[in-house]
Amino acid sequence: MTEPTRDQPVLVLNAGSSSLKYQLVVPESGEVRAGGIVERIGEAGSDVADHSAALQAMTTRLHADGVDLDEVPLRAVGHRVVHGGPDFSEPVIIDDAVLERIRALSALAPLHNPAAVIGIEAARQHYDVPHVAVFDTAFFSTLPDAASTYAVPRDLAAKHSIRRYGFHGTSHQFVAQATADLLGRPLAELRQVILHLGNGCSASAVRGGRAVETSMGLTPLQGLVMGTRSGDVDPGLHAYLAREAGMTLDEIDTLLNKRSGVLGLSGVNDFRELVQRVDAGEQDASLAFDVFVHRLKHYVGAYLAILGGADVLVFTAGIGQHSAPVRAAVADGLGELGITVDAHLNASGSSQARVISPDGSRVVVAVVPTNEELAIARQTADLVG
Ligand code: AMP
Repeated sequence: MTEPTRDQPVLVLNAGSSSLKYQLVVPESGEVRAGGIVERIGEAGSDVADHSAALQAMTTRLHADGVDLDEVPLRAVGHRVVHGGPDFSEPVIIDDAVLERIRALSALAPLHNPAAVIGIEAARQHYDVPHVAVFDTAFFSTLPDAASTYAVPRDLAAKHSIRRYGFHGTSHQFVAQATADLLGRPLAELRQVILHLGNGCSASAVRGGRAVETSMGLTPLQGLVMGTRSGDVDPGLHAYLAREAGMTLDEIDTLLNKRSGVLGLSGVNDFRELVQRVDAGEQDASLAFDVFVHRLKHYVGAYLAILGGADVLVFTAGIGQHSAPVRAAVADGLGELGITVDAHLNASGSSQARVISPDGSRVVVAVVPTNEELAIARQTADLVG
């Protein structure tokens, strides 16, 4: 293997059970050489039989895009892994033992970790370069015990690794630093409330670059209302549904993960469509929007209390970056807490990181694009040197 050079890209892979997202990124410059997604892996009628075939399909598409991986040798492959459990608090170079530990965490993330393991196995066979796992939970390994501990018996929690882990950590960490850069202030000085609002949604409280609270928990189901996930419900709902509706645990799990949230309330999970329906005067859509925003305010208020006030409130991911109505609704009525949004700045369609609060606001409100692939590429490159 030749010595890596600074313009050699990192291949970033995000393997789901039936999809493989890929991006070829130069970590230093952020240049994206190519990217895409291979879908319907292993599905009936699909010509992509498994994740190894998906990597072949990716190579073919890269070729079509003018990228020959043999001629542009990879520096490393960075893998997004959802659950690092109690084991992993930072990125790690993958060897057989690490792969086994990731596999063993599948009980905590049955929808995600098995797919990541399959993706890693296939990629290790295809590419003889260092492979790095970057965990979605890692940034939240710094949560204080008071925040990460569920009030359930301690021996049971210890036996089954039950605690708040948090997810979307790569995004929250990236955005925390990008916000400090935008404001031209040291990360170490800032108290930040970060709202990652995409298909999945999560909030975090970050003090001096370290996460002290987040809305997701043992699984990515806790917290904010999401596209198809309920977020917080009364934990008693499970027993109630089992008794009253005769549902099994798997049915309840599917209900709360796949058929709830904005979809369950309005019939659509895409936020653009939801906003169109709100504008058209549909009541179910309006209620879904209001529930979504109400939960967000609940968490913003909570995190102001946790942090003892905030310097900046940040919106990121698909909805956070693009939905001016959501940002306006979250800030509405929070002037007493130092949070206001300038209507003109909020409405600008800029795709750049930017401030949307008036000059001199006690809490700066900002819109900061996330970039999980670049974050994974950088963490991967840092580790392999
Ligand atoms: P992400 O997971 O970050 O890709 O975000 C996906 C979510 O962002 C989906 O619910 C999209 O409907 C939503 N989204 C993307 N663009 C817009 C937009 N212009 N206005 C409102 N929501 C948007």
